[in-house]
Amino acid sequence: MKKPINSINTCDMVNVINGVATSIWFQGCSANCVGCHNGSLLKRRESNHAISDAADSITRYAHRNRNVAILGGEPLEHYEATLMLLKHAKSLNLTTLLWTGFDLENVPDEILSHVDYIKVGRYQRDLHGLFKYYGSSNQHMYHVIDGIAHDDESLN
Ligand code: SF4
Repeated sequence: MKKPINSINTCDMVNVINGVATSIWFQGCSANCVGCHNGSLLKRRESNHAISDAADSITRYAHRNRNVAILGGEPLEHYEATLMLLKHAKSLNLTTLLWTGFDLENVPDEILSHVDYIKVGRYQRDLHGLFKYYGSSNQHMYHVIDGIAHDDESLN
């Protein structure tokens, strides 16, 4: 797929822990969670931006946006592209955040070693609640240090 990215936000102050992020939404997720709030991002199809567009945006705004958030859709169903963008962000000493529907034990170590914060778990409508970084109580945000996910009450 030449253009797997639906949208790029170069001034995201929502999907971030501190400061401003360049945020990237992948197109495509096979999970089909009932009540998913990103319904337009589920179908895997050619979308609006190439990976190079996202990498260029990360570079261009790195002086101001010290965070890169990767969301979807399901970023881990675009594994190589997600890994490349995470590595690119870390090469610029940026903080990286990843939103995935995968459970923590299914996230590859290679990905964990390039993220600082990760939201895990699929949305479950019967567990819906008001949380800052996700929509249902089975989901969780971890602070990742040197590839190890740590619980942090302030994020959940
Ligand atoms: S994993 Fe996330 S994007 Fe995919 S269907 Fe579930 S809530 Fe939607």
